[in-house]
Amino acid sequence: MKKGITKREREVTDTEEILSILDKAKVLHLGLVDGDEPYVVPMNYGYIMEDGKLTVYLHGAKVGRKLDVMRANPKAFFELDCDIVPFEGKTACNYGITYASVMGRGRAVIVDDENTEEKIKGLKVLMKTQTGRDFEITDKMAGIVSVIRIDVSDYTAKKRPMG
Ligand SMILES: Cc1cc2nc3c(=O)[nH]c(=O)nc-3n(C[C@H](O)[C@H](O)[C@H](O)COP(=O)(O)OP(=O)(O)OC[C@H]3O[C@@H](n4cnc5c(N)ncnc54)[C@H](O)[C@@H]3O)c2cc1C
Repeated sequence: MKKGITKREREVTDTEEILSILDKAKVLHLGLVDGDEPYVVPMNYGYIMEDGKLTVYLHGAKVGRKLDVMRANPKAFFELDCDIVPFEGKTACNYGITYASVMGRGRAVIVDDENTEEKIKGLKVLMKTQTGRDFEITDKMAGIVSVIRIDVSDYTAKKRPMG
């Protein structure tokens, strides 16, 4: 079920601000549905935003629970955040933390091993998001990892600045 953001004044709708969160966060928490229980995996990621459409790329080993889970059920949800700064107050209620975050849902697709071109594209995108730099990725490098694409259907962003 999709719900609107509760504290609307903290919603982020400006595209540049959303891109800045996506650039900064570096770690994404990927939520999957393993049978009747949730499964969440922290991962590094890369992203492409084209005409407001967000696509996320992940990479990892060729075996493991997350791959088994998404093969059985490709439904995915993710959260990523940055600008985490705890602040103090006079009373317990005045303590808090600043943050900026993006959450979204979509479909996880394990890129076919035969599709080396897209695997290389995904790995380049991941390295760009993680480091800000362009890297050469060879067929051999792409061959030893799995690449996962998240086709994001919708997402929201929210922030709590200082003060
Ligand atoms: C900051 C960060 C960034 C990471 N980036 C990547 C990445 O880009 N790519 C990547 O593949 N992996 C990354 N990892 C590791 C990732 O979280 C998983 O451990 C890994 O992907 C294996 O997942 P799996 O479902 O195949 O685990 P499996 O090894 O199949 O999991 C078996 C069991 O091990 C436990 N487990 C798995 N992972 C973790 C974990 N991280 N912490 C505690 N228990 C765990 C769970 O109970 C799980 O059921 C990162 C981890 C962190 C903390």
